[in-house]
Amino acid sequence: MKEIVVAGPMLHRLSRIYEEMETEYNRVAVQLGFSCEGCPDNCCDSYFEHHTYAEWSYLWLGFRHLPAEEQQEILLRAEAYQRACEDALAREERPQVMCPLNRQGRCILYPYRLMVCRTHGVPATMTRPDGRRLRFPGCFRCQELVAGQYQNEEGVLCVERTPLLRQLAMLENDLLAGRRHLYPKIRLTIAQMLLQGPPSIPVPHCER
Ligand code: SF4
Ligand code: SF4
Repeated sequence: MKEIVVAGPMLHRLSRIYEEMETEYNRVAVQLGFSCEGCPDNCCDSYFEHHTYAEWSYLWLGFRHLPAEEQQEILLRAEAYQRACEDALAREERPQVMCPLNRQGRCILYPYRLMVCRTHGVPATMTRPDGRRLRFPGCFRCQELVAGQYQNEEGVLCVERTPLLRQLAMLENDLLAGRRHLYPKIRLTIAQMLLQGPPSIPVPHCER
């Protein structure tokens, strides 16, 4: 097995995508007059799965910077998180468990957090590769704000995720040397990404 490492120009590209996400998020948040300031909730207990080796590797880049003791403690929390999620799913409920990277309301790996963590909050739209249009209403607080002030027949002010996701998909394909379709699809929680170790793929015969 060979570890997939997002580094050099790929790392630069991923940082640029995240910067663009942040700019778009802030543009919408400012126009809506929305912020997380004073929120009684913490959406780091929302259940999300993640889909790219690139982000998985980036998460590990941050995780490796943590002291060994802290890593161990997070892995224990990740195990508990995963068990709680599996229990909820077995009851056919959507899990609501605090992310193992959240400590006292704050993200331990904030600069390394994943795309979903960066885009949750304000309303967003995206077009899937099959052409289906999806709308995300934003978090409960933002939904209240939007419903009160900004709903119209053309939809609310929102982040268009499609170009950002397209860039991420292209980066993912380049990271996997154009062979993305050959590798297992990923559908992992952050806890699973931590518990499984950094991403790795089988070494092709020609490279052995
Ligand atoms: S995104 Fe919404 S729910 Fe999450 S902390 Fe911010 S205001 Fe609260
Ligand atoms: S990675 Fe950080 S921002 Fe994302 S859910 Fe976990 S604690 Fe929250």
